Amino acid sequence: MRLNMPMTAIVAAALLAAPSFAQDGYEIPSDLAETATGLAEAGLESDLAWQVLESLTTEIGPRLGGSEAEARARDWGVRTLTELGFENVRIEEFEMPYWERGEIETTLVSPFPQAVFATELGGSAASPEGGVTAEIVFFESFEELQAAPAGSLEGRIAYVNDRMVRAMNGSGYGPANRKRSLGWIEAQARGAVALVIRSVGTDSHRFPHTGMMSRPNQRTIDQGGLSQVAADYLVATYPDIAEQAARAQIPAVAVSGPDADQIERTHRMGETIEMHVATSGGWQEMTTSGNVIGEIVGRENPDEIVVIGGHLDSWDEGTGAIDDGAGIAITVAAARLIAELPENPRRTIRVVMFGAEEVGLLGGFAYAQLYADSLGDHVVASESDFGAGRVWRFSSNVSEAGTGAMDAVGRILEPYGVIRGERNGGGGGPDITPMVMAGGVPTFRLEQDGTDYFDLHHTPDDTLDKVDPDALAQNVAVWAATTFLAAELDVEFRTADEQDGPN
Ligand SMILES: [Zn+2]
Repeated sequence: MRLNMPMTAIVAAALLAAPSFAQDGYEIPSDLAETATGLAEAGLESDLAWQVLESLTTEIGPRLGGSEAEARARDWGVRTLTELGFENVRIEEFEMPYWERGEIETTLVSPFPQAVFATELGGSAASPEGGVTAEIVFFESFEELQAAPAGSLEGRIAYVNDRMVRAMNGSGYGPANRKRSLGWIEAQARGAVALVIRSVGTDSHRFPHTGMMSRPNQRTIDQGGLSQVAADYLVATYPDIAEQAARAQIPAVAVSGPDADQIERTHRMGETIEMHVATSGGWQEMTTSGNVIGEIVGRENPDEIVVIGGHLDSWDEGTGAIDDGAGIAITVAAARLIAELPENPRRTIRVVMFGAEEVGLLGGFAYAQLYADSLGDHVVASESDFGAGRVWRFSSNVSEAGTGAMDAVGRILEPYGVIRGERNGGGGGPDITPMVMAGGVPTFRLEQDGTDYFDLHHTPDDTLDKVDPDALAQNVAVWAATTFLAAELDVEFRTADEQDGPN
């Protein structure tokens, strides 16, 4: 891999740096502010993230969590981090249940026979030999499905139509995703032979969107996530539900947006729709995944850790350029720029390529478990996992003193088009959540413009050509500046309580 950003460029950029910031509250020492700005300027000029992303998506391509391809991606990760000069490069393996896609055949049988573009959802069961052919029951929303009486779907196919709303911050995803995560258990509980949903996405192309289904357990019931019908059914049908999460026994598929429109139009005509669904995917033997780690060891406080990263796995149909090759590329490139400084920052920067995120944040949970004893030394953590669009907002969830410092970091980011967002929230990204839950690790988030993210998310169309190199470089710029300051500033980002771990 060719590196094109010599140290002289960073120093030169630093000389052009913005003045120091003497507004109210915390002030970043001017030399550090200059270095941070120099890193950001270097990031804008660097194509290292592009090189990393091109290499990952071309040389590995799709890399489903737990697959042989994901294992090759881990080796790629080790090679890449080693070539780039990271220290303590390693793989930390964990075992996981493995679901694999099979063949799919979906057609509208009547009243207007035609093929349908669809994909299996992760966790779907194989259909009976020859598939199922049945009348669909049309639900406008997940809530409508949840309100259906027990037994009302016996021998039929549940179809859930609700659309996802496009939004810059992706806030349409959660509501639209409920039919994907828990739709199967609500359908199966009422006797349905299959679940069909409109893809959770915002595009108008004929690519269906896959994604993992939830595996509900007693906690899902306790948290009120299921209807009474589904909760009763779950307890009656899955005897180990207190300990073991349930697996679907029916096929569950998503149809593309235009195909969903077709079903919707036919339904509005008052027609009874018959559909054929045949799938062969399903759960396999337990398999191995792992997190890949590289570090820039802190020069003064090596035991204090700043975690950044992305997830290495992707869905199996695209090459995972935006989800989440971009996050890997951005954080690796940003850390590499920091490593080129004359001396390492005070604290250790740990870059984590999380494994098996898509299939249940398994790498994030494995990390939190493995480092349970040292989460108290995790100063702050953040993951890039929202595509390759520009960062437009910077949020944080750190101590009060740390928040003042983050405000100052935010002022450094302003020239790069980033405004200050939430001061007490925003999370750190999916794989960071387990370490927040287990160890109260403080977080920041460099929020990306996700207006178009769900056009491509989890589709075969998630490929390198969709990434804008300039936007990618802007990400590297703000990640480099922010990560450097988090690792260098003499600020306590943890609150006093958090340092003792959670109660
Ligand atoms: Zn992702």
